[in-house]
Amino acid sequence: MSKLRFKVVEEAFNRKAVPVKVPAERPEVYYGKLVFNNQKMFEYLPKKTYDALVSAIENKEPISREIADSVAEGMKRWAIDNGARHYTHWFHPLTDGTAEKHDAFIEHDGKGGVVEEFSGKLLVQQEGDASSFPNGGIRNTFEARGYSAWDISSPAFIMGETLCIPTIFISYTGESLEYKTPLLRALNSVDRAATAVANYFDPNVKHVKSYLGWEQEYFLVDESLYSARPDLLMTGRTLMGHESAKNQQLEDHYFGAIPSRVEAFMLDLEIECHKLGIPAKTRHNEVAPNQFEIAPVYEETNLANDHNLLLMSVMAEVANRHHFRVLLHEKPFAGINGSGKHNNWSLGTDSGTQLFSPGKTPKDNLQFITFIVNVMAAVHRHNALLKASIMSASNAHRLGANEAPPAIISIFTGSQVAGILELVENCTAKDFADLTNKEGVTVGVAQIPEILLDNTDRNRTSPFAFTGNRFEFRAVGSSANCASAMIALNAAVADQLNSFRQSVDARLAKGEALEDALLAEIRRLIEESKPIHFDGNGYSDEWKAEAARRGLDCETSAPKIFDAYLSPSSVEMFRRTGVFSRIELEARNEVKWEMYTKKIQIEARVLGDLAINHVIPVATRYQSMLVDNVVKLKTLFDAEKGAEIVAHDLDTIEKISKHMCIIKTETDKMIDARRYANNNISDEREKAIAYHDTVVPSMDKIRYHIDKLELMVDNEMWPLPKYRELLFIR
Ligand code: ADP
Ligand code: MG
Repeated sequence: MSKLRFKVVEEAFNRKAVPVKVPAERPEVYYGKLVFNNQKMFEYLPKKTYDALVSAIENKEPISREIADSVAEGMKRWAIDNGARHYTHWFHPLTDGTAEKHDAFIEHDGKGGVVEEFSGKLLVQQEGDASSFPNGGIRNTFEARGYSAWDISSPAFIMGETLCIPTIFISYTGESLEYKTPLLRALNSVDRAATAVANYFDPNVKHVKSYLGWEQEYFLVDESLYSARPDLLMTGRTLMGHESAKNQQLEDHYFGAIPSRVEAFMLDLEIECHKLGIPAKTRHNEVAPNQFEIAPVYEETNLANDHNLLLMSVMAEVANRHHFRVLLHEKPFAGINGSGKHNNWSLGTDSGTQLFSPGKTPKDNLQFITFIVNVMAAVHRHNALLKASIMSASNAHRLGANEAPPAIISIFTGSQVAGILELVENCTAKDFADLTNKEGVTVGVAQIPEILLDNTDRNRTSPFAFTGNRFEFRAVGSSANCASAMIALNAAVADQLNSFRQSVDARLAKGEALEDALLAEIRRLIEESKPIHFDGNGYSDEWKAEAARRGLDCETSAPKIFDAYLSPSSVEMFRRTGVFSRIELEARNEVKWEMYTKKIQIEARVLGDLAINHVIPVATRYQSMLVDNVVKLKTLFDAEKGAEIVAHDLDTIEKISKHMCIIKTETDKMIDARRYANNNISDEREKAIAYHDTVVPSMDKIRYHIDKLELMVDNEMWPLPKYRELLFIR
């Protein structure tokens, strides 16, 4: 066996679970230990400052410079008490991930020494240069410099020895260059719009909050095996590798026993999460070998998203301690399931009503139906945009593969809600009241609560499913920043609710009764959004044809899917809700196209190297061994007998030649296609399309033939760890 492969496989095989330092206290005690939460604020801030800050957070108001100074002082003392030496404005650039620039607290003391200081100015606002982050050309047309400002709705925390301050980053001309700013804008807009509609049912509602519970799927790979795979190292996925004889077909991994090394990792990860105030709750094996999931208790969307981003960094660190590498790529291994990040999403009022949960009275249920139907209408109208919001070069590999939703957005409601919608569609306000009062109706609106509580019919093939009290956006990719999906979804729903409110108000102004007006508009929306409603098998080919007939967006090319951000309906929707200006949308799409091209470019380079410098030489060596053998065998026998004996080897020799020939030709083609796109196409969109149409197909072919060679070449000689070695942690 190739020396390196042999060594790393043995290392991985002999690795034992790393013991975890479990705190002496219970989670209740250490939960949030590293977070400057209300309790810490109360302890470290003067009463006046504490009250001002808490009220600013609640009312979404800015804080004065004086209060900021006082907060900064308290925050610094707390951070230093907990071992921090640096601070950073922590933000979410368009690269998916987080960015930070660390500064020590130290300042000159004027006597040749230093003091540790941290002022309100440094806390609330910092200048920075945006030009080294992807900014989609804003740097050319606009001032590249910008500033970062503390998002007071998200508490500061300590990572290692650094105080991290969650911030937004915007250019001096006001354009947002990251994810948090538009997310906060979208959340504000859905708050206002949903509150106005909720007020039809309860005039006391002042705010509606958006909630997010993400489920993070991931793969673990032993660090030694990982280091022997240049493709994993550079691109986060395997670019070659024949599937192993056994993978997930026995369905024995899901909810199976967790291997001890992994269990230690999970425990360690949960302890770290809890210290950071991330309410990690659920952990289990996923369907594919080496695939796992972690999910927290849901939180308000902005905080939940900060926590997901933080989790992704913490995971990488904790995995290292356990001699693993964590793979967040959506499709690290071909032929087995990829990883998603289901976004469980709901809206709830400040008085505690879950707007997607049916209630006990007819009025509650009318409210429930109102909100469900508006979500359906928003998802219908903006299905192409929602797809664009979850699309990336890496998620493109997962969508439409046999275990994930296709690249078509539809909503699964389940038969109960479907029945209710059908009923509502055909009833008047009087029928509705009768229905909800009468006993013994099979699918009466009044019965919704019980029905939904034991509504277990789950459709795992749907990209967007109603699951009892929330919607589950399942098309989101495992490596994505959830903000992208949450911005599009909350903004689209806000816009829909605004238009619903206007239509209902217009009817009320004409003297219609509230229930009549609501039902009339609900019926209109049910009718209009029928095409988005699909409870069947989303993996089937019939659905693809049917979806096209229904006018849903069926585009499968990622660079073209991004176009949806710039369609008139998206641009107008984002303008009306104040979430994005056209300039921002254009700039962000430039980034998306550029990132797409770069990711494919890197993969193509790595694959070219693997093909030409790893696989071809080994295949050639093996082939020449066979040739030697043939020559020698022939000397032992007469011509006829000799020919018979070497026939099989000759066949193999020829096949190897064919595969190698195609690999070489396709690698040349791939390099030419890249060169052409790089030298001749300056438009980012066109370039990304060229990469998609001309580079990716060669990559697929090269892989196919490498994987064939893997099956033919002597196992001892094969240079890279195989799937069966990578995928089964003991
Ligand atoms: P499943 O795998 O059955 O979908 P999990 O328990 O893995 O469920 O994850 C469900 C996620 O949904 C959790 O993060 C949970 O907190 C979250 N969740 C539950 N109710 C709501 C809600 N009303 N709004 C948003 N998220 C929710
Ligand atoms: Mg789920």
